Order: sequence, then C-alpha cells, then structure tokens
Amino acid sequence: MLLKWLLAAALLLGQTGNLWAAWPPMFQPPKRYDHPYRGKLIVKTYGAWGILRQCGYAWACTYVGGDGNGRCTVHVMAVGRGWLGQRKVDVAGFRLLVNHERGHCNGWPANHPR
Ligand SMILES: [Zn+2]
Repeated sequence: MLLKWLLAAALLLGQTGNLWAAWPPMFQPPKRYDHPYRGKLIVKTYGAWGILRQCGYAWACTYVGGDGNGRCTVHVMAVGRGWLGQRKVDVAGFRLLVNHERGHCNGWPANHPR
C-alpha cells in the first residue's frame, strides 16, 4: 500500500516536473529590451509546417523593431506542437519564446547582443 502511494507520488512529481520544465529553454533578451512593446503585439501560433513556411527551421520569428505601423507580429510554434521527433513546446517554453521575440519587437538585434 505504501509502495503504491510512493509510486503515485513519483508519477505525479514526474508529470509536474515536465509541466514546469521550460521547453524550449529559450534564452531571454537583455533588460533594456525586456519590457512591454509600445504598440500592438500580435501573437500567431503554428505547427511545424506553418512555422517552417513563416520562419524556416526555427521555434519563432519576428521582425526586429516590429512590422511597421506600430505593430509587431510574433510567429511562434504553438504549445503542444514541435519539430518532428523533438519535444513539444510547453507552456513555460512558449512564454520564453514569446518574451524572446518581444525583445526583437523592442529592437533587440537578430544576432542577440547581450
Ligand atoms: Zn532571437
């Protein structure tokens, strides 16, 4: 009986562990670019084929400085989607992706200077 409980707890921990582990573990913009976008931020989500068409082989893409006319569209792989044979994007990873791209909306250059 005790063993059963321990096993259940282990399974549960394993699951929440997966939920909390950010995938992909995308690096974040430096502080000066890590702030709300002063304009309209649009987030469009895709599966692998959609993102391939929009961005190439990437998790997400955005025009540095936005699209013009006060808008910035973030194209990003949706939660639960991913590249064939790879781990799927989770909620925490999705947030990291959008935040990374928002940095580009705010002018963070594509070569990611710190
Ligand atoms: Zn980037």
